[in-house]
Amino acid sequence: MKRSVFAVALNHRSQTEHWKEAFHQSPYKTPPKTPVWFIKPRNTHRQTGDIISLPEQQTFSGGTLAVVIGKTARKVSAVDAEHYIAGYALANDVSLAEESFYRPAIKAKCRDGFCPIGQMAALKDVSALNIVTEVNGVVKQSWSTAELHRNAAELIAALSDFATLQAGDVILLGTPQQRIAVLAGDSVTIKAQGLPDLTNHFSDKVLPQMQPDGHPTLFALGLNYADHATELDFKAPEEPLVFIKAPNTLTGDKSVSVRPDNLEYMHYEAELVVVIGKTARNVSRTDALNYVEGYTVCNDYAVRDYLENYYRPNLRVKSRDTLTPLLDRITPRDTIPDVQNLQLKTFVNGEMTQSGTTQDMVFSVAFLIEYLSEFMTLQPGDMIATGTPKGLADVKPGDEVVVEVEGVGRLTNRIVSEKQFEESLK
Ligand code: CA
Repeated sequence: MKRSVFAVALNHRSQTEHWKEAFHQSPYKTPPKTPVWFIKPRNTHRQTGDIISLPEQQTFSGGTLAVVIGKTARKVSAVDAEHYIAGYALANDVSLAEESFYRPAIKAKCRDGFCPIGQMAALKDVSALNIVTEVNGVVKQSWSTAELHRNAAELIAALSDFATLQAGDVILLGTPQQRIAVLAGDSVTIKAQGLPDLTNHFSDKVLPQMQPDGHPTLFALGLNYADHATELDFKAPEEPLVFIKAPNTLTGDKSVSVRPDNLEYMHYEAELVVVIGKTARNVSRTDALNYVEGYTVCNDYAVRDYLENYYRPNLRVKSRDTLTPLLDRITPRDTIPDVQNLQLKTFVNGEMTQSGTTQDMVFSVAFLIEYLSEFMTLQPGDMIATGTPKGLADVKPGDEVVVEVEGVGRLTNRIVSEKQFEESLK
């Protein structure tokens, strides 16, 4: 099923209680004001009965409730949200230990098979539902959805404010601070009254990767050009800063992108996009480019005003509707002699405002494929937006923004206000 799986961190009282003091210190400075979203991409999706392969690291089960969206939901209020709910299912947000909430936890949360979801049922009242985790038939945890900060309706309202949800999409409502360690050979069952059980067996064997059946995964890189990191007053990262964008954010060439009202700063980012051509797992950097189908171009807009120091940059900054124009034409790999020697440029109303070269990438295309494929399977159609050089500027409604990558393509886009966008939908 082609569904997007959104999840929210820090939504259980025991979690915010546990981290309370740390959240007033660096790098957080202040507790989160909006939900801390993350995505469980298609390589994580499994069903009840599927076997899940354990990595070498200690792995934890995170039994939770998933709300399933019933129809297209855009800017839905919490009061109306129940009309957009098809039902609920049990889910397991399988994860490694999380030691920080500062950066998206891709390595901990996006490994193959780390998101089994059970069968849906139509439940009316989930305000105090007990979510029970059994390991090998023994109850290890029971918690109540009454302990969550935000309920399903409030989460649908918060997410659909910037990301349009489609029928079949799900939101995992969160887990307690205490997670349940799982070992090879364990059978884990998540239960709740009125919902079909979710049972998965955990194995230390490497399993053949399943056929992908969800939306392609769109990875993006923060601070991957040394000059841009300096511009933002950051040191270049020692490990790739990878996050995932959901498909709601994508739009095409010659499209419009919405600048929300009452903002200080929204900027473009010209980026080279790598399109994966064949299944990649544990690929070495010397072999990595053989797994590339080709390249394209995107404009990875960001709304700086919405940055908070949680899973930074969060989905509210980076996965908004219309804010990732992507050229749908793929330039075959063989026509690009050296992907690490391409010019990138941005023009705003015809004036060049950004200019750089892929020579300045901190982590090369080949390195990124090696890095990601070490802990998750990359599948044909998955994309990596590889970051942007320096030269960012605020853009306003009416601006025409063109981004181009030498030999790969050119993408034109226009900024509109919220009002102009709403009128264009009529
Ligand atoms: Ca970017």
